Amino acid sequence: MIQIKDLHKSYHMGSNSLHVLKGINFDVNEGELVSIMGSSGSGKSTLLNILGMLDEADEGSYTLDNVKIKNLNERIAANYRNKFLGFIFQSFNLINYKSALDNVSMPLYYQGVKRKERADKAMHYLEKVGLAEWSHHLPSELSGGQKQRVAIARALASDPKVLLADEPTGALDTKTSYEVMELIQGINDEGKTILVVTHEHDIAQMTKRIVNLKDGLIIDDSTVEQVRASAHV
Ligand code: ATP
Ligand code: MG
Repeated sequence: MIQIKDLHKSYHMGSNSLHVLKGINFDVNEGELVSIMGSSGSGKSTLLNILGMLDEADEGSYTLDNVKIKNLNERIAANYRNKFLGFIFQSFNLINYKSALDNVSMPLYYQGVKRKERADKAMHYLEKVGLAEWSHHLPSELSGGQKQRVAIARALASDPKVLLADEPTGALDTKTSYEVMELIQGINDEGKTILVVTHEHDIAQMTKRIVNLKDGLIIDDSTVEQVRASAHV
């Protein structure tokens, strides 16, 4: 589903530059549930933004569902982004003046789906995340966990190939974090490919594979079983 080879990324600020990704290689197969771990500033969001086509690498190659992502014009990039990718953020990024249902139907609007089908699909995904009864509520009337569920429903609405989540539990308490991760696990069980950025071990342990970033490189890439086994040595 995803192949990245020798990815490099630097940020330039005036005469200073910061080499953040220094040759990242990894593949993600369809149906995987992967976490990307690393301390603050290790480049997790930078990597996820490149995978999400929100930013481009300086060097290296990125292939998403057999499409080479490179030098695409913004219209084509936006098209791929809508078709291939769903995003979940730490701060939910819901539209405050729109109901849960309207938030979820938003990506469908941009895909040109007709009003009735939009509403039906949005309702279907709200049911999926357990919020059917909250469809007409505004984000301000929902708890953090409920807001993240709406955001997850929104990310699923366009049936993307890959879900990208940047610290999806970062703004939630422990219990709610586990509940949101259980929802993500359930979505993965149905076959969705999901990448979760987190700096919390407990959250990473709820995925199936943990990729560890440090100083711009992958220093470990193991299944959760391997990580658990080595922790018990
Ligand atoms: P956190 O856990 O705090 O979210 P992260 O692993 O996601 O950290 P990144 O956001 O990818 O880290 O940032 C990696 C480095 O690049 C940091 O030193 C950061 O300050 C720097 N950086 C990130 N975005 C930019 C930018 N747009 N311009 C300049 N520097 C940036
Ligand atoms: Mg980050």
